Amino acid sequence: MNVKNLRLFFGLPLPHRQAEAIDRWCRELGLDGRPVARRNLHLTLTFLGSHSVERLAELQCLGEGIRGNAFEMKLDRLETGRHGLVCLGTGQAPEALLQLAGELQRLLRGAGYTLDERVFWPHLTLARDCRNPPLPASVPDFCWRAERFVLFHSTSDAQGTLYKPLFHWPLVTPER
Ligand code: ATP
Ligand code: MG
Repeated sequence: MNVKNLRLFFGLPLPHRQAEAIDRWCRELGLDGRPVARRNLHLTLTFLGSHSVERLAELQCLGEGIRGNAFEMKLDRLETGRHGLVCLGTGQAPEALLQLAGELQRLLRGAGYTLDERVFWPHLTLARDCRNPPLPASVPDFCWRAERFVLFHSTSDAQGTLYKPLFHWPLVTPER
């Protein structure tokens, strides 16, 4: 039997306009590492690793079962991480974002997935392998309303990495 494995993660996509603005600003910074292509800018909620294509139906049901709230996502500071990672982070993670990531992790662990044990760190990667991370005087407030979350398939070929959205689910605005 030929079982195909897919590299998967749940994430928040970026509206086109914000991706453009972030990409433009990032180019002006002149990062010296491997920049993330504009089309791939995203915020990871939970990384799953490689799984059989046969598990997709289960993951689709799992996403369907989540009733998350929409929220304002504001990226307002530059952060760095291991392996020369440079990313945009947030001074204040929205409660609805933390709830969404937490709920996904809870349901995925319950379904038998092994996840990263590290505390959830909301960040949007701009580049990797940077040796001289820049220290801009200020970071513009990049803001958008997160109204859906996505299961992405991370693919890689000679043209580079591409995250393909497989399923998406709405985040709802609570009634007042
Ligand atoms: P490439 O590995 O081809 O350079 P990439 O790191 O963007 O590109 P993936 O490794 O498929 O592509 O990662 C997809 C997303 O999941 C990225 O946001 C990445 O930071 C995150 N990710 C990858 N591995 C892990 C991990 N072990 N734990 C948590 N998040 C991860
Ligand atoms: Mg990687």
